[in-house]
Amino acid sequence: MSTLAERYASIRSQLPPHVTLVAVSKTRTVEEIRALYDLGHRDFGENYPQELKDKQPQLPSDIRWHFIGHLQTNKVKYIAPFVHLVHAVDSERLLDELEKRAAAAKRSIGVLLQLHIADEDSKHGLAKSALRSMVEGWDQQRWPKLKLNGLMGMATFTDDREQIAKEFATLADLFRSLREAQPALAGKFTELSMGMSSDMDLAIEAGSTMVRIGTSLFGER
Ligand SMILES: *Cc1c(COP(=O)(O)O)cnc(C)c1O
Repeated sequence: MSTLAERYASIRSQLPPHVTLVAVSKTRTVEEIRALYDLGHRDFGENYPQELKDKQPQLPSDIRWHFIGHLQTNKVKYIAPFVHLVHAVDSERLLDELEKRAAAAKRSIGVLLQLHIADEDSKHGLAKSALRSMVEGWDQQRWPKLKLNGLMGMATFTDDREQIAKEFATLADLFRSLREAQPALAGKFTELSMGMSSDMDLAIEAGSTMVRIGTSLFGER
Protein backbone atom coordinates (compact mmCIF):
# COMPACT_ATOMS: atom_id res chain seq x y z
CA MET A 1 0.00 0.00 0.00
CA SER A 2 1.41 3.35 -1.02
CA THR A 3 0.75 6.59 0.85
CA LEU A 4 -0.89 9.69 -0.60
CA ALA A 5 2.48 11.45 -0.47
CA GLU A 6 4.09 8.66 -2.49
CA ARG A 7 1.34 8.60 -5.10
CA TYR A 8 1.44 12.40 -5.38
CA ALA A 9 5.23 12.36 -5.86
CA SER A 10 4.97 9.61 -8.44
CA ILE A 11 2.37 11.42 -10.53
CA ARG A 12 4.25 14.69 -10.33
CA SER A 13 7.42 12.98 -11.50
CA GLN A 14 5.58 11.92 -14.67
CA LEU A 15 4.39 15.44 -15.49
CA PRO A 16 6.42 17.89 -17.58
CA PRO A 17 6.72 21.26 -15.80
CA HIS A 18 4.15 22.99 -18.06
CA VAL A 19 1.39 20.49 -17.20
CA THR A 20 -0.96 21.40 -14.34
CA LEU A 21 -2.22 18.58 -12.15
CA VAL A 22 -5.88 18.99 -11.23
CA ALA A 23 -6.56 16.64 -8.31
CA VAL A 24 -10.07 15.31 -8.86
CA SER A 25 -11.63 15.21 -5.40
CA LYS A 26 -15.26 14.36 -6.17
CA THR A 27 -16.66 12.02 -3.50
CA ARG A 28 -13.51 12.56 -1.34
CA THR A 29 -13.84 13.93 2.14
CA VAL A 30 -12.65 17.34 3.27
CA GLU A 31 -9.97 15.53 5.30
CA GLU A 32 -8.62 13.75 2.20
CA ILE A 33 -8.47 17.04 0.32
CA ARG A 34 -6.79 18.74 3.27
CA ALA A 35 -4.11 16.03 3.34
CA LEU A 36 -3.15 16.78 -0.26
CA TYR A 37 -3.36 20.51 0.38
CA ASP A 38 -0.90 20.03 3.24
CA LEU A 39 1.52 18.45 0.78
CA GLY A 40 1.43 21.75 -1.11
CA HIS A 41 -1.23 21.06 -3.73
CA ARG A 42 -3.63 23.86 -4.71
CA ASP A 43 -5.60 22.78 -7.82
CA PHE A 44 -8.62 20.59 -7.13
CA GLY A 45 -11.43 19.50 -9.45
CA GLU A 46 -15.04 18.65 -8.63
CA ASN A 47 -18.02 17.44 -10.69
CA TYR A 48 -21.06 18.18 -8.59
CA PRO A 49 -22.00 21.81 -7.85
CA GLN A 50 -23.74 21.10 -4.57
CA GLU A 51 -20.87 18.98 -3.29
CA LEU A 52 -18.35 21.65 -4.23
CA LYS A 53 -20.46 24.38 -2.65
CA ASP A 54 -20.54 22.40 0.61
CA LYS A 55 -16.82 21.61 0.69
CA GLN A 56 -15.37 24.94 -0.40
CA PRO A 57 -16.04 26.90 2.84
CA GLN A 58 -14.49 24.10 4.90
CA LEU A 59 -11.17 24.34 3.07
CA PRO A 60 -8.47 27.00 2.64
CA SER A 61 -9.40 29.93 0.42
CA ASP A 62 -6.25 29.74 -1.70
CA ILE A 63 -7.38 26.50 -3.34
CA ARG A 64 -8.04 26.92 -7.05
CA TRP A 65 -11.29 25.07 -7.66
CA HIS A 66 -11.84 23.60 -11.11
CA PHE A 67 -15.34 22.56 -12.10
CA ILE A 68 -14.81 19.64 -14.47
CA GLY A 69 -18.26 18.07 -14.86
CA HIS A 70 -21.27 18.96 -16.94
CA LEU A 71 -22.63 22.18 -15.48
CA GLN A 72 -26.35 22.92 -15.62
CA THR A 73 -27.23 26.60 -15.86
CA ASN A 74 -29.40 26.48 -12.74
CA LYS A 75 -26.38 25.30 -10.70
CA VAL A 76 -23.94 28.02 -11.79
CA LYS A 77 -24.92 30.24 -8.87
CA TYR A 78 -23.53 27.72 -6.36
CA ILE A 79 -19.99 27.92 -7.63
CA ALA A 80 -19.64 31.31 -9.41
CA PRO A 81 -18.53 33.16 -6.24
CA PHE A 82 -15.27 31.21 -6.04
CA VAL A 83 -14.68 28.85 -8.99
CA HIS A 84 -11.36 29.37 -10.80
CA LEU A 85 -11.88 27.49 -14.08
CA VAL A 86 -14.94 25.79 -15.61
CA HIS A 87 -13.67 23.02 -17.88
CA ALA A 88 -16.68 21.70 -19.74
CA VAL A 89 -18.58 24.61 -21.26
CA ASP A 90 -20.64 23.59 -24.26
CA SER A 91 -23.26 26.27 -24.88
CA GLU A 92 -23.73 30.02 -25.19
CA ARG A 93 -26.53 29.74 -22.68
CA LEU A 94 -24.09 28.48 -20.10
CA LEU A 95 -21.64 31.27 -20.98
CA ASP A 96 -24.42 33.83 -20.50
CA GLU A 97 -25.28 32.42 -17.09
CA LEU A 98 -21.62 32.27 -16.03
CA GLU A 99 -21.21 35.88 -17.12
CA LYS A 100 -24.25 36.99 -15.16
CA ARG A 101 -23.16 35.23 -11.97
CA ALA A 102 -19.52 36.30 -12.31
CA ALA A 103 -20.60 39.91 -12.68
CA ALA A 104 -22.87 39.61 -9.63
CA ALA A 105 -19.92 38.23 -7.66
CA LYS A 106 -17.65 41.00 -9.06
CA ARG A 107 -15.04 38.54 -10.29
CA SER A 108 -13.90 36.86 -13.46
CA ILE A 109 -14.02 33.17 -14.27
CA GLY A 110 -11.92 31.13 -16.69
CA VAL A 111 -13.68 28.82 -19.12
CA LEU A 112 -12.65 25.96 -21.39
CA LEU A 113 -14.87 24.86 -24.26
CA GLN A 114 -15.50 21.13 -24.41
CA LEU A 115 -15.07 19.32 -27.70
CA HIS A 116 -17.03 16.11 -28.13
CA ILE A 117 -14.21 13.70 -29.02
CA ALA A 118 -15.56 10.43 -27.65
CA ASP A 119 -17.25 7.80 -29.72
CA GLU A 120 -20.20 7.79 -27.31
CA ASP A 121 -23.53 9.58 -27.22
CA SER A 122 -23.40 10.04 -23.48
CA LYS A 123 -20.50 12.45 -23.35
CA HIS A 124 -21.24 16.15 -23.52
CA GLY A 125 -19.40 18.66 -25.64
CA LEU A 126 -19.54 20.64 -28.84
CA ALA A 127 -19.08 19.39 -32.37
CA LYS A 128 -15.90 20.63 -34.01
CA SER A 129 -17.60 23.12 -36.30
CA ALA A 130 -19.70 24.60 -33.50
CA LEU A 131 -16.68 24.91 -31.24
CA ARG A 132 -14.64 26.51 -33.97
CA SER A 133 -17.27 29.15 -34.66
CA MET A 134 -17.68 29.85 -30.96
CA VAL A 135 -13.97 30.59 -30.63
CA GLU A 136 -13.76 32.53 -33.89
CA GLY A 137 -16.82 34.57 -32.99
CA TRP A 138 -15.86 35.00 -29.31
CA ASP A 139 -17.56 38.17 -28.12
CA GLN A 140 -15.62 39.67 -25.20
CA GLN A 141 -18.20 42.49 -24.99
CA ARG A 142 -20.91 39.93 -24.33
CA TRP A 143 -18.85 38.01 -21.76
CA PRO A 144 -16.54 40.62 -20.18
CA LYS A 145 -16.13 38.63 -16.96
CA LEU A 146 -15.18 35.39 -18.70
CA LYS A 147 -11.71 34.41 -19.90
CA LEU A 148 -11.60 31.95 -22.76
CA ASN A 149 -8.61 29.94 -21.58
CA GLY A 150 -8.69 26.97 -23.92
CA LEU A 151 -10.26 23.59 -24.65
CA MET A 152 -11.19 20.40 -22.85
CA GLY A 153 -12.13 16.89 -23.89
CA MET A 154 -12.83 13.41 -22.57
CA ALA A 155 -11.80 10.34 -24.51
CA THR A 156 -13.99 7.30 -25.02
CA PHE A 157 -14.13 4.88 -22.10
CA THR A 158 -12.24 2.05 -23.78
CA ASP A 159 -9.11 -0.11 -23.50
CA ASP A 160 -8.22 0.75 -27.08
CA ARG A 161 -5.25 3.05 -26.54
CA GLU A 162 -4.90 3.79 -30.22
CA GLN A 163 -8.41 5.13 -30.31
CA ILE A 164 -7.80 7.29 -27.24
CA ALA A 165 -4.58 8.64 -28.75
CA LYS A 166 -6.45 9.48 -31.94
CA GLU A 167 -9.15 11.36 -30.05
CA PHE A 168 -6.58 13.36 -28.08
CA ALA A 169 -4.76 14.19 -31.32
CA THR A 170 -8.00 15.51 -32.83
CA LEU A 171 -8.49 17.84 -29.85
CA ALA A 172 -4.85 18.95 -29.80
CA ASP A 173 -4.90 19.72 -33.54
CA LEU A 174 -7.98 21.88 -33.15
CA PHE A 175 -6.43 23.67 -30.17
CA ARG A 176 -3.26 24.45 -32.12
CA SER A 177 -5.07 25.58 -35.23
CA LEU A 178 -7.34 27.92 -33.25
CA ARG A 179 -4.34 29.40 -31.45
CA GLU A 180 -2.65 30.09 -34.75
CA ALA A 181 -5.79 31.49 -36.36
CA GLN A 182 -6.64 33.75 -33.41
CA PRO A 183 -3.45 35.54 -32.36
CA ALA A 184 -5.53 38.03 -30.36
CA LEU A 185 -6.78 35.22 -28.18
CA ALA A 186 -3.61 33.19 -28.06
CA GLY A 187 -2.12 34.92 -25.02
CA LYS A 188 -4.98 33.68 -22.85
CA PHE A 189 -5.97 30.64 -24.87
CA THR A 190 -3.29 28.45 -23.36
CA GLU A 191 -4.90 25.45 -21.68
CA LEU A 192 -5.68 22.06 -23.13
CA SER A 193 -7.41 19.96 -20.46
CA MET A 194 -7.22 16.28 -21.35
CA GLY A 195 -6.13 13.13 -19.57
CA MET A 196 -7.42 11.16 -16.57
CA SER A 197 -5.79 8.41 -14.47
CA SER A 198 -6.05 5.75 -17.18
CA ASP A 199 -4.88 7.85 -20.12
CA MET A 200 -2.63 10.53 -18.61
CA ASP A 201 0.45 9.38 -20.49
CA LEU A 202 -1.32 9.48 -23.87
CA ALA A 203 -2.72 12.94 -23.11
CA ILE A 204 0.69 14.33 -22.21
CA GLU A 205 2.21 12.88 -25.36
CA ALA A 206 -0.52 14.57 -27.38
CA GLY A 207 0.13 17.98 -25.79
CA SER A 208 -2.10 18.26 -22.72
CA THR A 209 -1.41 21.20 -20.40
CA MET A 210 -3.83 20.08 -17.68
CA VAL A 211 -4.53 16.54 -16.49
CA ARG A 212 -7.49 15.67 -14.24
CA ILE A 213 -6.46 12.86 -11.92
CA GLY A 214 -8.61 11.21 -9.25
CA THR A 215 -8.14 7.47 -8.89
CA SER A 216 -4.38 7.24 -9.15
CA LEU A 217 -4.00 9.93 -6.47
CA PHE A 218 -6.73 9.12 -3.97
CA GLY A 219 -7.47 5.46 -4.81
CA GLU A 220 -10.59 3.82 -6.24
CA ARG A 221 -13.85 5.67 -5.64
C1 LIG B 1 -13.86 11.74 -12.43
C2 LIG B 1 -13.28 12.55 -13.53
C3 LIG B 1 -11.89 12.59 -13.74
C4 LIG B 1 -10.90 11.76 -12.94
O1 LIG B 1 -11.00 10.42 -13.26
P1 LIG B 1 -9.98 9.32 -12.66
O2 LIG B 1 -10.15 8.18 -13.56
O3 LIG B 1 -10.46 9.05 -11.27
O4 LIG B 1 -8.63 9.91 -12.68
C5 LIG B 1 -11.41 13.42 -14.74
N1 LIG B 1 -12.24 14.16 -15.50
C6 LIG B 1 -13.56 14.15 -15.32
C7 LIG B 1 -14.41 15.01 -16.19
C8 LIG B 1 -14.12 13.34 -14.34
O5 LIG B 1 -15.45 13.31 -14.20
